[in-house]
Amino acid sequence: MHAELELGLERRIGKRSAAVIEKHLGITTVGGLLNYFPRRYLNRGELTPISEVPLDEDVTLIARVVSSTTRQMRARRGSITDVVISDDAGTGPGPRGGALPGTLKISFFNAYRARAELQPGRRALFSGKVTRYAGSLGLTNPDFQLLDEDPDTPGMDPEQLAAMPIPIYPATAKLTSWSIQKVVSTLLDTAEFEDIDDPLPAGIAAREKFLPVADAYRLIHAPQTPADWQRARDRFRYQEALVLQSALARRRAQLAAEEATARRPVADGLLPAFDRQLPFTLTAGQAAVGKTLAGELAQDSPMNRLLQGEVGSGKTIVALRAMLQVVDAGGQAALLAPTEVLAAQHYESIRRTLGPLSRDGLLGGLGPDAVQVTLLTGSLPTAARRQAMLDAASGTAGIVIGTHALLSENVTFYDLGLIVVDEQHRFGVEQRDALRAKASRPPHLLVMTATPIPRTVAMTVFGDLETSVLDELPAGRAPISTHVVGLAEHPAWASRIWSRAREEIDAGHQVYVVCPKIGTDDDGDFSPGEAEPSAADLEGENGARELASVTGVVDHLRDEPALSGVPVAPLHGRQDPVLKSETMASFTANQTKLLVSTTVIEVGVDVHNATLMVILDADRFGISQLHQLRGRVGRGGLPGTCLLVTTLEPGHPSRRRLDAVAATTDGFELSQEDLKLRREGDILGASQSGGRSTLRLLRVLEHEDVIARARQDAQAIIGADPDLGCHAGLAAAIDDYLNPEKEAFLERG
Ligand code: ADP
Ligand code: MG
Repeated sequence: MHAELELGLERRIGKRSAAVIEKHLGITTVGGLLNYFPRRYLNRGELTPISEVPLDEDVTLIARVVSSTTRQMRARRGSITDVVISDDAGTGPGPRGGALPGTLKISFFNAYRARAELQPGRRALFSGKVTRYAGSLGLTNPDFQLLDEDPDTPGMDPEQLAAMPIPIYPATAKLTSWSIQKVVSTLLDTAEFEDIDDPLPAGIAAREKFLPVADAYRLIHAPQTPADWQRARDRFRYQEALVLQSALARRRAQLAAEEATARRPVADGLLPAFDRQLPFTLTAGQAAVGKTLAGELAQDSPMNRLLQGEVGSGKTIVALRAMLQVVDAGGQAALLAPTEVLAAQHYESIRRTLGPLSRDGLLGGLGPDAVQVTLLTGSLPTAARRQAMLDAASGTAGIVIGTHALLSENVTFYDLGLIVVDEQHRFGVEQRDALRAKASRPPHLLVMTATPIPRTVAMTVFGDLETSVLDELPAGRAPISTHVVGLAEHPAWASRIWSRAREEIDAGHQVYVVCPKIGTDDDGDFSPGEAEPSAADLEGENGARELASVTGVVDHLRDEPALSGVPVAPLHGRQDPVLKSETMASFTANQTKLLVSTTVIEVGVDVHNATLMVILDADRFGISQLHQLRGRVGRGGLPGTCLLVTTLEPGHPSRRRLDAVAATTDGFELSQEDLKLRREGDILGASQSGGRSTLRLLRVLEHEDVIARARQDAQAIIGADPDLGCHAGLAAAIDDYLNPEKEAFLERG
């Protein structure tokens, strides 16, 4: 039924064109080419601002010919035609410092057509790479087409023609946008649109007043007016959201239909004992989420839940209580951390929190009422690792903590009932599936996000999970004030930082100093007290500027008058584990007053007496990392301060991140900002979206309402028609989305 879209292209556009399209775009089917949408549309009447065209990419632009001169070459036969084109933007120093901004120079070799057609005053489309050579901008090997005599528009009235948008396709060096347009226009004439099975159910199309699918294809490729392509795009954007959300809804339904082992609460188990010994009361959010989890664990269909929560909102306790319920019911629980350091920290803190309710493998036999907590990571000594694996396999270990590597090794569980994944963002759908495969029956799954993520990202990246949110912090958290310390504009503030630290210490409090690096390497003597000419350093001959390092800063602070007599200690990942835990113990006991560390303290460290955090070269960290880091201060009811120190000039793009972090402590707001500042592709990588990585028309932030509506529709569709028997077009579109190899496969078959 869907045959038209899957039909080989040669059947509609001929063998020759089909071969060209396959060679350059890798597209072999009618649907493939129809869905190859223009990236944008140029206005025939306007010239493209040359300063906005990216360097070194294949681009298409409209420009006016300023001059054309042809000269004979001296050394060999032939001629060179130099053509200068412009966007009419005038002169003056441009953003790229080119000699004549708004102007591009092109040299054609023996190009008779260029010579004849590119006369001064003519306007044309050019396609090629903009490059910079000897200070001026040029266009390398461009192809061109005169605009005034568009072959496809004979007899159109000039006004209409001027309003007609020019579709610009993602072009390649060998295939121009207008060649693609030409082939597509043939396809629009020959395709059997009546045979396309519309992925959008008729009811939704009517409700949203969408264009019929055939019209939408025509107008997105060959619009007469800007409104045409906008309407077509609205439709396809929604369609994309619906396909994605339906794929996720179907996956949710399939997961829910699996059979898991119910893990019911036990009245005299470890969980009630743990609750009795908790030194604080759960927040309302923790209690509510706990109840949801307890209910779902007791079902015989697997829990698949995402727990989002602000930094410090107390997710670990929630997860630990779920793990204890599973252990009480005779099962095992695994906690997966993204790094070995984090796994070790979780291991320590969970054992501490459990107190007498836990035992480790070495001190076995402490009594049957305690749960054995086992750490299993790649860096354990062989004997210890072997023992940990034995304990996991035999069921002796009730809670196993490690990195996801432990799941790819020959690790087996006796009866794995619950998998908790901490810091979700490094685990994609495939990894979640790999984890599930570890248990004989599908285990319950809890994914925790250390950084809150926007709702729409949750709906797309984690759309196969149900979501819970912890949005309040435990009582006793004081506000954290965050300031950007710009040493480029205020060099004197460098020493002020250390007197500020001294004030905190004199008041009985403690200080964290965080550096992006461990050692000073070979190139010497950076001290954060020096104000660096950062721009010069960044661009200078000597390469990158030297970043603050743990060892360098510790050396510097030894001679810092403001901190004389203050016990300072370094902490970083390359230290011996024994030294590391001694250092942490000394800081926790308020003997060490100032801790200079890498981001090892990002998670898990919990010293209530620490009130000031100084992050050096803060521009080196991401938004969520900075947000996590500063969550380490202001924990004990004392107000916290975080200084984001940078040597970058104000206005440097990386300083926007710092300003964002300083402007709010709302993690959700920050993650929105993070998304805006990053490229979307980083977030929806192939492994995370569970299918084709490219969202073509959807932008997760911009189109939140589209995604939300599509999600509701998808849920209704899948609820009524789980295998999409009555929605053939949608089913086919999902298959296509989930299986990019399919086109090639059909071709071979
Ligand atoms: P996150 O959600 O960032 O993982 P944690 O689980 O590490 O947060 O919790 C942060 C700190 O808050 C821990 O020291 C934990 O013991 C403490 N905590 C958790 N829940 C509460 C509560 N209800 N009341 C007081 N402190 C709590
Ligand atoms: Mg945590």
